[in-house]
Amino acid sequence: MSDLAMLRVLDLPALAQGEGVLEGRVEAAALGRLWEDLNGDAQPVQAIAWRIRVQWRESTGQPAQLWMHLQAQAQLPLTCQRCLGPVLQPVPVDRFFRFVDSEEEAQAQDEDCEEDLLVLEKRFDFLDLLEDELLLELPLVPMHERCPQDLSVRAGPLESPAHPFAALARLKKPN
Ligand SMILES: [Zn+2]
Repeated sequence: MSDLAMLRVLDLPALAQGEGVLEGRVEAAALGRLWEDLNGDAQPVQAIAWRIRVQWRESTGQPAQLWMHLQAQAQLPLTCQRCLGPVLQPVPVDRFFRFVDSEEEAQAQDEDCEEDLLVLEKRFDFLDLLEDELLLELPLVPMHERCPQDLSVRAGPLESPAHPFAALARLKKPN
């Protein structure tokens, strides 16, 4: 099984029994839903760095609970909503999750706690969660602080000589 496939069937309780830390990098292209939201003109896309720490935590009078801290750092090319060109945006993830046994339990406790609740699956799809969290953190209106080209210049018949590949990339764009 490839490393990537392993990340879709993680045994979290087993992981928590050991050191509890797992980290790596995943290509954005491996996360299909996220990939669709990226600007195809900007290649290559930097791999996404992630780290999880899984541990059992005990509180008095209660059975130990499984927690996970997820952190990720991504630099993703989105589409600037002003000039429609690619704009690289930092997309950080830093969240705590607590695992419960059932969907009912999650719903019953959801309002009383700050952490996110997840149902503990025997084979936990970590990549799916990572992708969900990155999608949640994407800026709603990505925009350059200053767009690289003046819109009126760009609409003219001549492309700026500073960006010979931009015109090419637009021609190759599938949509
Ligand atoms: Zn822009």
